[in-house]
Amino acid sequence: MFDVQRVRQDFPILQRQVHGKPLVYLDNAATSQKPRSVVDALVRYYETTNANIHRGIHVLAEEATAQYEAARAKVARFIGARSPGEIIFVRNTTEAINLAARTWAQATLRPGDEIVVTEAEHHSNLVPWQLVARQTGARIRAIPITDDGVLDMDAARQIIGDQTRLVAIAHMSNVLGTIHPIKELTRLAHARGARILLDGAQSIPHLPVDVSDLDCDFLAFSGHKMLGPTGVGVLYAKSELLASLEPLYGGGGMIREVWIDEATWAEAPERFEAGTPNVADVIALGAAIDYLESIGMDTIREHEIRLTGYALDALSNIPGVRLFGPADLQQRGGVVSFYCGDVHPHDVSTVVDQEGVAIRAGHHCCQPLMRRLGVPATARASFYLYNLPEEVDALARALNRVKEIFAGVGA
Ligand code: PMP
Repeated sequence: MFDVQRVRQDFPILQRQVHGKPLVYLDNAATSQKPRSVVDALVRYYETTNANIHRGIHVLAEEATAQYEAARAKVARFIGARSPGEIIFVRNTTEAINLAARTWAQATLRPGDEIVVTEAEHHSNLVPWQLVARQTGARIRAIPITDDGVLDMDAARQIIGDQTRLVAIAHMSNVLGTIHPIKELTRLAHARGARILLDGAQSIPHLPVDVSDLDCDFLAFSGHKMLGPTGVGVLYAKSELLASLEPLYGGGGMIREVWIDEATWAEAPERFEAGTPNVADVIALGAAIDYLESIGMDTIREHEIRLTGYALDALSNIPGVRLFGPADLQQRGGVVSFYCGDVHPHDVSTVVDQEGVAIRAGHHCCQPLMRRLGVPATARASFYLYNLPEEVDALARALNRVKEIFAGVGA
């Protein structure tokens, strides 16, 4: 049986108080907290192993290189990649998507080609495509979201067509929590000769994901949302795609041979990792994966389904609370966006914070989706493996406090 209390002891920050109340951390879609083993991995690296990697012929450099490359192999195994060479370390999801846009998309797209996204994308999976579309003459089209908060698959079948070169879609929405039918979208894309890029910022930390099974061409995700440190993210790409791509950044570490006026490139992934990489954080991301695997991604997913079901029940029992996203728990992850009466989500978040409960309020970097939902912003609670039903109760109590305070304004 999954012992949440036991897990909580591994996260030192969960012991702290906020405004004199125990911290209830429900902002995991923004970033997760870190277990002691991840913090220890960082400290251990700097205290015992710190060196620059790949080029040094001394013990520290060899150990640091081995640990860095072991983390790459761990990431590859964790997502089901065929080889560590398909894993490129970057800073975060945003940089991973920009890297795919500036290398593969820039070289591939022609005027009239189409990039298909959805109405629910994070700005990180919109703006990079806008930049590349401007330069190549490609066009962006969006698959609509239904009133139930899922993708309109009939529309998807119409929109993904002969002009489509890329489908770029979040695996799981950071606002609606919706887990999109990726296998079907991949089949649709591939049937038209298009590629598919998954924004896995919200899925990789919370669901078992196997890129070989999904057959996606690119996958982007961030370490900091999956118990790892900030400053490290991953771009996965199929090796056959990487083999033919020009690098984005030039410099040390990404070359085979250099002359004054020309150079040849190293193979992937080194070709895309110019300069000294974020060695310590990559190694600590490996420790985060060890931690997640020690619990099991299926166990984490099941825990979050239970907690999300509990939260949807608890919040829907509060008069005036409007919930967004699909009702079917199998179709959604642990993200619950809501509106509380007519109270602006920023005010909701401020009052709730006074009760020690950390949630997020705003457009969540999804302005097109906010327009689709007809709201300026939402409040959002998001869960992880260390959250408890009692914490959902604390949120519900805090929302009742919001209603008391704003009684005159339709709360
Ligand atoms: N895509 C989605 C779906 C996200 O939720 C986020 C983080 N809010 C991002 C992309 C961007 O992640 P990062 O800021 O780590 O680059």
